[in-house]
Amino acid sequence: MNLRIGHGYDIHRLVAGRPLVLGGVRFATDYGLDGHSDADCLTHALCDALLGAAGLPDIGHFFPNTDPAYRNIDSQLLLQRVVAELQACGWALVNIDATVIAEKPKIAPHLAEMKAALARSTGLPADAIGLKATTNEGVGDLGRGLAIAAHAVALIEKR
Ligand SMILES: [Zn+2]
Repeated sequence: MNLRIGHGYDIHRLVAGRPLVLGGVRFATDYGLDGHSDADCLTHALCDALLGAAGLPDIGHFFPNTDPAYRNIDSQLLLQRVVAELQACGWALVNIDATVIAEKPKIAPHLAEMKAALARSTGLPADAIGLKATTNEGVGDLGRGLAIAAHAVALIEKR
């Protein structure tokens, strides 16, 4: 067995008047994450975990935030391209696991829908996708609701 593990982390600021997208799911809020793409920090953390597992450069290398082509882009498209990049190198995904840290909004009711969106983008079965949400217990900038962050790990296997 030729297995590799990877880790990813991402954080984006919460601002008024932007759509909030997490794990490919649009939330009904009047605030969202600031960024060049749709700023889906969960999906970005997953991309970096996958790229890291394969020993490839990070998401900013493949999709520079200076490139107008990626302005407001759906990050599921980026995740799909990352999966294709790994497959081209002979890697298959085994499982992914991630934690979203958000003081607001409530993430838990949307986890199943997020998992389904990530399953579509990665080709993984839903039971190979771990997804949790927690708050930062009011501590620090995350706890004050100034940003949303995500941690992710991924396991890949050489086929
Ligand atoms: Zn990001």
